[in-house]
Parts: sequence; C-alpha cells; structure tokens
Amino acid sequence: MALTAKLLRLYQVDKQVRGLQSRVKTAERFLTLRERELAELDAKRDSLKAQSRQLQATAHNDESEIKGIDEHITKLRDQLNSATTNKQYSALLTEVNTFKADRGAIEERALETLTRLEEVNGQLEELQNKRGDIVKLRDHAAAERDEKAAEIKSRLEELQAERDVAAGELPADVLQEFESELELREDEVMAPIEEMNRRAMEYCCGACQVLLPMEIVSASINGNTLTKCSNCNAFLYIEEATREAALPSGKR
Ligand SMILES: [Zn+2]
Repeated sequence: MALTAKLLRLYQVDKQVRGLQSRVKTAERFLTLRERELAELDAKRDSLKAQSRQLQATAHNDESEIKGIDEHITKLRDQLNSATTNKQYSALLTEVNTFKADRGAIEERALETLTRLEEVNGQLEELQNKRGDIVKLRDHAAAERDEKAAEIKSRLEELQAERDVAAGELPADVLQEFESELELREDEVMAPIEEMNRRAMEYCCGACQVLLPMEIVSASINGNTLTKCSNCNAFLYIEEATREAALPSGKR
C-alpha cells in the first residue's frame, strides 16, 4: 500500500474514533454544566444559611434585652407605687419613660430583624426546591454520560486496535508529524485534492482551497510520494475518481 493510502487509513480510523468520543464529550459537557450550577447554588445556600443563623442570634438577643427591660420596668413601677415624695415619684417616672423609649427602639429593630429573617428563610426554601430540580438534572446527565460511554465502549476498542495497526504501518517520522498536526487541526490534518478545472489542470487543496502547484498534483496522481499543501500544510490525498479523471485516457 502506498504511503499516502496508509496515512489516509489512519486518518479515517482516527476520525471515527473522534466522532465516537465526541458523543461522550457532549454528554460530559452537560454534566459539567450541571455540576457547576449545583456548586453555585450550594455556595449561595451556605451564605443564606449563615445569614439566617446570624439573624436568629440577633433576634434572640433583642428578645432577651426586651425581657430584661420589662423586668426592670416592673420593678420601677413597684417602687413608683411605694414612692413617698413627689421628687422621688417624678425621678422614677422619668426612668420608666426612658426605659420604655429604649424598649420601643429595640422592638422596632427586632421587627426589622424578624422581617429580614423571614425573607432569608423564604429564599433558602426557594433555593432548596430549585436545588432538588438541578440534582435531578445532574443525575440524569451523569446517567446519560455513562450510557453513552458504555454504548461506544466495544466499538471504540475495536477502532483503537485498528488505529494501532494503521499507525504501526507508518514510518515513525511521518506518524509523529501526523500526530502533532492532528492535535492542532483535527479533521483538517488531511485534505483531498479537488479538481477546479480539468482542462487547465487546475487542482486545489480541499482544506484551504488554494491552487496547488502542478508538481504536487502529479506526485499525488502518480502515487507513492507523500505530499502536503504548501499553504495550509494539510497532508494531501487524491480520491480515485479525481485521479482517474486526471490521467490521460490511455493510462486509465
Ligand atoms: Zn491547504
């Protein structure tokens, strides 16, 4: 088999391998997206939980502060009832009123805290529900990925074995060049020579469409030399129909 034909075989098997793997890769990408979404929600949930805890602690403090003031006011009222002078009475009354004003301010603050706490808890609940949905989607994506991987497993093994054989038939330097180009250009690592104008003997590279020098086209038509596009560096091959059409009629 000519060198170009050997390389073409490797290229075609490799293309099939990548085609199969791309199905799993698509499923894998969906899974990664879901997992990222879930991680974002969890971070938000943790922050809301922390806020909720802090607000609860503040609410608790406000409550015990109010309780303390109430006890104090009760005590002052008892003293007020047993006051013996006017001066004593009005001093105690002022004190009661001061405590009452303080109590009002704390109560107002406590109400704000409780409203905020309710809001945060509402957000938490909403987020938990959403999280439940996303967990389902994530699990579904994971199952899909596993299913796709299982589906291609045996065919992929076959193709990989075929690929090893095809690669083994190539000279080491050609294989190395092919592999490194493959990483950069994938499907465009090889390109067919395309006929543009048969009469004028004009042929172009199937990857970049640039007109190819006649000596490259002739080398490909005649067979055993490995040729590359001088513009985009793709390995070139010629399809049988193009080759036959290019040969003088006597040689066909
Ligand atoms: Zn090209």
